[in-house]
Amino acid sequence: MIINLSTLYIVVLLISACMAMSWGVLWRYYPTIGGSGFWMLANLLSAAGGTTMAVGEPMQSLLLVMAGNAMVISGFWMVWCGIRHLQGLRSYWEIAVLAGAVTVMLLLLVQESRIGRNTVYTVGQAMPMVAAAVFLLRRMRRGMASVLTALALVAGAIGNGVRLGSLVAHQEGLLATAAYNQFLFVTMLVVIFSGLTRNLGLLLLVMDRLRRNLQKLAAVDDLTGLPNRRYFMGRILEEQERAHRREQPFSLMIIDIDRFKQINDTHGHAAGDACLLHFSRLVSERLRATDVVARMGGDEFCVLLPETLASQAAVVAQDLVSAVRAEAAEWRDVAIPMTLSIGIADWRPARSATISDLMHDADLALYRAKRRGRDQFAVSPDAIRAARVELFEAASAG
Ligand code: GH3
Ligand code: MG
Repeated sequence: MIINLSTLYIVVLLISACMAMSWGVLWRYYPTIGGSGFWMLANLLSAAGGTTMAVGEPMQSLLLVMAGNAMVISGFWMVWCGIRHLQGLRSYWEIAVLAGAVTVMLLLLVQESRIGRNTVYTVGQAMPMVAAAVFLLRRMRRGMASVLTALALVAGAIGNGVRLGSLVAHQEGLLATAAYNQFLFVTMLVVIFSGLTRNLGLLLLVMDRLRRNLQKLAAVDDLTGLPNRRYFMGRILEEQERAHRREQPFSLMIIDIDRFKQINDTHGHAAGDACLLHFSRLVSERLRATDVVARMGGDEFCVLLPETLASQAAVVAQDLVSAVRAEAAEWRDVAIPMTLSIGIADWRPARSATISDLMHDADLALYRAKRRGRDQFAVSPDAIRAARVELFEAASAG
């Protein structure tokens, strides 16, 4: 069986139609992930435009040929729109419509010239392909998926360029008909494979986005929107490595709301939730951008304070204790007073404790604060001892 150009052309159209269906399904499954709707339209326009051209050419219908060209070019702009949409930017779909209209106008101007028509078609397709490739390489995180998609787009644009070049060479008598047909055949293959790779690359970008969304979800506490225990434990281990490298300390605070069960019992679980939210807001407002607060579970929270000694963390803790005491939570016009207890421990390069040692120390300090009557903070004995030694050393050096 001989594969001729027409067969390949039909293959291109069928692939576009199948891709449109697949993007449609993906769009339905993940409507909140940007891009899919535009890429469904892109492939639909390609398939419809290609078919319209294929029908129009033998009929020598300028109207159908122009409409087909415009649809294909609008479709390529839709690829660009989808990539922007996936990034959470305005899609500028109007450009795709405008590009279609401009294509029709330009084709009317050059309708007598085959090279002119092909130039409009080639440049019209290359522009969105190059724009999308540049966007992918500059604006998106340059992962393998972005690079693969950009390469596929550039390959598609080059394939179209080569097709136009071979047409010009053929018309000028520089390329024999047989060689010209070979060129057409090869460029058609390039169009097929670059199109497949482009769609696969876009699918990888969507998967990448889904994975990142999932990672974010897995790191966040549902109720408060603060980072959760999983995130915090990873973050504190990172901090320990960083502090070790830079020979810097960091502090850990464990915070527990006082008599929270009583709040739940008196005002109800929903009021308790409101108190947790109220506390989350107060604590978030009082921390530096580099500090990390996380809800570890129930009414227990942890704060990581990089480059901070326990003595400095104590100032933050006192501020928090006072702020929470001063500002009652509100639930359905009822003021619910709250207090909290805080345990503080610090990690110092010289001591080089493990994270579980540090958690244990902060936990013991917290329970000391609770035992002493709550509504206060306590510092781990180790941190106090180290601070005293430092003071003593500083005094003797002075
Ligand atoms: P203490 O001062 O000793 O900490 O006393 P407490 O009553 O706060 O005791 P504890 O910390 O053990 O109580 C935690 C309570 O938090 C128990 C549980 O019913 C409640 N709780 C846990 N998760 C949630 C939540 O998501 N929402 C609400 N409203 N309550 C929760
Ligand atoms: Mg509690």
